[in-house]
Amino acid sequence: MIRYTLQCANAHRFEAWFQGSDAYDAQTSAGHVSCPECGSTEVEKSLMAPGVPKKTESLGPREFFNQVRAYRSKVISETEDVGKGFPEQARRMHEGEVEHRPIRGNATPEQVKEMTDDGIPIAPIPPEPPAEN
Ligand SMILES: [Zn+2]
Repeated sequence: MIRYTLQCANAHRFEAWFQGSDAYDAQTSAGHVSCPECGSTEVEKSLMAPGVPKKTESLGPREFFNQVRAYRSKVISETEDVGKGFPEQARRMHEGEVEHRPIRGNATPEQVKEMTDDGIPIAPIPPEPPAEN
């Protein structure tokens, strides 16, 4: 159910509940919704409907970099650095030769492609953001 604030042709405002926007369209176009004050069936959604303005989520560069830093430090604190052995280690884990554990390390773009082609779940660690001024 959704609630709409409606306005009739005489500018009376009232609220009505509908199953959904399709139901609203169907009932108003069929004249089933009438103004409780004047009975007009010429109703439309009020543009003055009180509501919470939609908040646009936009991160400033500072917030973005802070999130990147937080993600980096979490990854680095929770994984073991295996350096250049990363592709081999990741593959052996994927193939069940060694026990799974969170690792990080280096891989060339070719190695990354081979691993993703083979379905080995890897994710890049974002680079350290520039220092704040
Ligand atoms: Zn009215």
